[in-house]
Amino acid sequence: MSLKKYHKKRDFDATGEPEGEAAPDGGEGTLFVVQEHAARRHHFDLRLEHDGVLVSFAVPKEIPQEPGEKRLAVRTDDHPLAYAAFEGTIPKGEYGAGEVALWDRGSYELVEWNDEEKIEVVLHGNRLEGKYALVRFRKAGENDWLLLKAKEE
Ligand code: MN
Repeated sequence: MSLKKYHKKRDFDATGEPEGEAAPDGGEGTLFVVQEHAARRHHFDLRLEHDGVLVSFAVPKEIPQEPGEKRLAVRTDDHPLAYAAFEGTIPKGEYGAGEVALWDRGSYELVEWNDEEKIEVVLHGNRLEGKYALVRFRKAGENDWLLLKAKEE
């Protein structure tokens, strides 16, 4: 996984966001985080540690919490692991300008990771709990996925 795009879009002298590097071993992580981001368009950023980075999705509406609910999730640039601890204001004029606040954080169990088609995890957070699937939704757009809260078994 690469942080090239993440780095390219940011001026680290101007923003307080971490510069960070991809973790070298790229092992399978278990951290997840959700940040509420009051950018030009308010959204929630769901990030899953994977292969040394935080694989990231922007969810324009709230994260589904009822079984069977689904939301559009736009895959965004991979972020460094250090981003999981970031809260604060991204200054005006910088990429993603606006307030970032930690909304949830916890661990996840991996069920399936297919980078092109489907990612399935069980989240154990303070707010989010249970099985979630991210399913590629190419008909909508190249980076569009659906985030679904699975029905109880
Ligand atoms: Mn964001």
